[in-house]
Amino acid sequence: MTFAKNTVVAHRGAFKKNGFPENSIASLREAIRLGCTGAEFDVRMTADDSLIINHDPHFNKLEIEKTEYKALTAFTLSNGEKLPTLQEYLQAGMQQNKQTRLVLEIKPSGINKDRGRLIAARVLELVKELKATPWIVYISFDYEILKELRRLDPAASLQYLEGNIAPAQLKADGINGADYHFSVFKTKPHWIKEAKENGIALNAWTVNDSTTMNWLLKEGFDFITTNEPEMLMQIAN
Ligand code: MG
Repeated sequence: MTFAKNTVVAHRGAFKKNGFPENSIASLREAIRLGCTGAEFDVRMTADDSLIINHDPHFNKLEIEKTEYKALTAFTLSNGEKLPTLQEYLQAGMQQNKQTRLVLEIKPSGINKDRGRLIAARVLELVKELKATPWIVYISFDYEILKELRRLDPAASLQYLEGNIAPAQLKADGINGADYHFSVFKTKPHWIKEAKENGIALNAWTVNDSTTMNWLLKEGFDFITTNEPEMLMQIAN
């Protein structure tokens, strides 16, 4: 893998400009076509332990964690795509792609922390089975999920999303990156320096305006997560 040298992570894929549904295989393919360094997507687990791609806890008013996979497939995405499974998404993401990281967000379980850890283990198992490991950066708001991934895979690339832990502590816990809302870095600019000193990758979400993009580029961020990958690609070049 030779990842693209830009900072652009397409949030839920490159969906917006072309009117693709978020987290669709169409938006993933567009992020790859654009040459983004990363394409982000959200993973959840159904009641019968199927891993699927969807941001919200509900899909067409069905609560994903309490619904079996087959019932969810009664509905499609707005472009007619079937609700992607993680397996389908990873397989599409590895096709003709040697430059775009697959930035895999594991959503916290609404049931309990144990189920969150179970989801983490299942995701890791599938990634290994599909030989997708070289593409993957794991991100999560749930610190326990990241710690479980670290326990199971000493080499996994992990970034934390919640924005409430200092970079030195991330390093102590074996987390590789701070992927925080950009306002966190505005309030705590010393965390930028602390991250660099500790070898913690810097990523910010979800940055859709050129002023903030330029500020983060000037600060030397490794990644910027955006709904406007085309705009960031232009600004960064
Ligand atoms: Mg996400």
